Amino acid sequence: AETWEEVPLAPPDSIFKLTAAYKADSFPQKINLGVGAYRDDDSKPWVLPVVKKATELLLTDPDIDHEYLPITGLPQFTSAAAKLILGRDSPAILEDRVVSVQTISGTGANHLGALFLSRYYRFGEGGKKVWLSDPTWVNHFAIFRNVQIEPVTYPYYDPATIGLAFEPFLETLRSAAPRSVFLLHACAHNPTGVDPTREQWGQICDIILEKGHYAFFDCAYQGFASGDLDNDAWAVREFVKRGVPLLVCQSFAKNAGLYGERVGAMHVVAPTEEAADRVKSQLSVLQRSEISNPPAHGARLVSLILNEPVLFAQWKEDIKTMAHRIIEMRKELHKLLTEELKTPGNWDHIVNQIGMFSFTGISTEASQALTEKAHIYLTTNGRISMAGLNRKNIRYFAENLDKVVR
Ligand code: PLP
Repeated sequence: AETWEEVPLAPPDSIFKLTAAYKADSFPQKINLGVGAYRDDDSKPWVLPVVKKATELLLTDPDIDHEYLPITGLPQFTSAAAKLILGRDSPAILEDRVVSVQTISGTGANHLGALFLSRYYRFGEGGKKVWLSDPTWVNHFAIFRNVQIEPVTYPYYDPATIGLAFEPFLETLRSAAPRSVFLLHACAHNPTGVDPTREQWGQICDIILEKGHYAFFDCAYQGFASGDLDNDAWAVREFVKRGVPLLVCQSFAKNAGLYGERVGAMHVVAPTEEAADRVKSQLSVLQRSEISNPPAHGARLVSLILNEPVLFAQWKEDIKTMAHRIIEMRKELHKLLTEELKTPGNWDHIVNQIGMFSFTGISTEASQALTEKAHIYLTTNGRISMAGLNRKNIRYFAENLDKVVR
């Protein structure tokens, strides 16, 4: 028999497929709303000015070499990254009980967190499962299955209100076996753009504490949601303050525009410093067998940005530029649909949703019609990347959205 005879052909990744179809389309007004990456007002990728500055500093730094980083990553990067997400005055940081490991961006952080839980977490009677929001970033399913943790879902999105299915979500938190693991999007939920309010986070936290659940936070969009880094870290910090056992996956792909550099970290908040030491020792063993040492360049860039006050201030401005452009596009789209085109239905969710994505609430057929008739590329669940809209194409998009829902 042939060597790979039994390997079945896998379907192509749906986002990848969408991008390929977009690229092959020669229609001048085509729009790509599938991609989860920031674009400027000219639909171009944006190298953040702060990243340009940091790159120049690195180029002229005589102390840069190409030696291996430590197994758990660049220490100046991981410690600054922990402070960024947990807050400088976090009780966990002050008590030296945070374990931080540099990872291959947010995907690697999710993987390492999942692998660590798979090996060492004392799962409750519910078995080796993780609760994911319905819907979630699709990769979460594969990441957990890869380490033999079974993904199950909790209600999150309510199509009737195009908002949070809050009561059913709470009910699942209550009925899940004690010590269950819940994956929570720290801010700017992907794909819905629907986040709990602070008051709702408080209620979620109450039940998690009561039932002894574990919070697996995925934070891929800090700063990107509201334009403010601290604001977007609120839920994570609140859970730490209230003593929820948790870990956080952190990505610098979106908020620093470093998609291809793969800069991220995974932080475990342990109950004591002594527990943190043991956890760190095992994470090092796992990391060693998987990647040996994480890549240096992106971590050096982010380390400079986080540790040099002038660069940090510039970064905050750059983040505001991205977040505010997206917020402007939300307002503009809402205005076009409600005031100008008088599109049937309620479109308030467009301005209420947060972050890169918006769940428009349109049907699969309407999504497909946008692609087929208007050359507007989006996933068939009606999700659009707000970053794909700009002042030049938003009217064309609004007019065609209006047509397909009428
Ligand atoms: N988690 C969520 C919810 C995401 O949306 C993404 C990217 O789209 C990631 C994690 C990981 O991204 P990266 O590996 O590029 O940091």
